[in-house]
Amino acid sequence: MDHLEPRSRSRDEALARDAADPLRHLRERFELPDGVVYLDGNSLGALPRAAKDRVAATVSREWGRGLIGSWNEAGWVDLPARVGAKIGRLVGAEDGSLVATDSTSVNLFKVLAAALALAPGRRGVVSEASNFPTDLYMVEGLAALAGQGHELRLAQDPEHIEAMLDGDVAVLMLTHVNYRTGRMHDMAALTKAAQERGILTVWDLAHSAGAVPVDLADARADFAVGCGYKYLNGGPGAPAFLYVSPRHWARAAQPLSGWFGHAAPFRFDVGYAPAEGVRRFLTGTPSVIGMSALDAALDVWDDVEMARLREKSVALCEAFIEGVEARCAGLGLTLASPREAHRRGSQVSFTHEAAYAVMQALIERGVVGDFRAPDILRFGFTPLYTRFVDVADAVEVLRDVLESRAYEAERFQARRAVT
Ligand SMILES: *Cc1c(COP(=O)(O)O)cnc(C)c1O
Repeated sequence: MDHLEPRSRSRDEALARDAADPLRHLRERFELPDGVVYLDGNSLGALPRAAKDRVAATVSREWGRGLIGSWNEAGWVDLPARVGAKIGRLVGAEDGSLVATDSTSVNLFKVLAAALALAPGRRGVVSEASNFPTDLYMVEGLAALAGQGHELRLAQDPEHIEAMLDGDVAVLMLTHVNYRTGRMHDMAALTKAAQERGILTVWDLAHSAGAVPVDLADARADFAVGCGYKYLNGGPGAPAFLYVSPRHWARAAQPLSGWFGHAAPFRFDVGYAPAEGVRRFLTGTPSVIGMSALDAALDVWDDVEMARLREKSVALCEAFIEGVEARCAGLGLTLASPREAHRRGSQVSFTHEAAYAVMQALIERGVVGDFRAPDILRFGFTPLYTRFVDVADAVEVLRDVLESRAYEAERFQARRAVT
């Protein structure tokens, strides 16, 4: 092997790792275009074959032939709870404590409102300046609406969060895995620190569910939300999810009190009476086609052991970091993700001063990651379908784009609406 170029030697090694990968058969369950190295499953998961078939069946059989009867016959009405139970198993939620519904942003509004109402007299909502903006925007909107002087207090550095947890703080709202850097919080430790000061926690699992092991019950989290279209592969705009600890079921109330959260929606009572448990956090009619796609997409997890998934995720990320640092040294990249695996989710980010154009050039050559302002190249690793050979190939294409300065071409400079 010694006579081979480093490039082909590492490609052979990658192929050998793929052959020994206990999760390798799962890639077959996805439709992935030929010639594409897809490293953006953290933004939009790939299409599961089962979801494609299920959507077709939902549309033609359940909707087309079953019509209104499908609410009962095809179980449409139970989808939020049924899909929620599948997600609940992936994030360690107690039975019946998680529903699939609405979008992450809307779910944040509901759980934040519920949490603030459980902490009267306290004004602070602590989060991070580096949190995903929609999470912060939802706090702003809710605080303005509530008109009780609630205010967002933002940590500039994750290490400062604990010191901000004082007796005036109602809620600690954090995204478990940071969308830009992939940095992962210690959920159990921060939840404990918050609760010792009487503070409720809201965890956003957008980049955690299906990406890293999560145990909401064990961490004693109060509320959580997360995304259906990232590592859960539910399709563009898939329903999100919402978790409420059983400790709060009796008292938690949410403001979007629609009929799907009513104790008896088909009694058509004049007054609102919330359902028992987390079902009271539903609002209106679920999006059945999207919910069906997510439902089918989640079946792949029946065959996945989360510990194996995490092992592969760490190995993929480490292979990428090592590959980039070995092959792209001196080409302007700086690692923006934590180097220690236990502090990182299933993505790796690098900064580059021309990050946007570099990513466009990569995409044109079939390596699909994404760009996050101002200067981040983001690569997501989905152990269900990402192979070690994809990592090896992505490293070489990245090297080529940087070394040749191909990214300087005019066509890579103009920013599109979605980056
Ligand atoms: C992706 C993501 C969202 C998306 O919210 P939507 O309401 O689905 O648009 C929210 N928060 C975080 C942390 C995310 O990563």
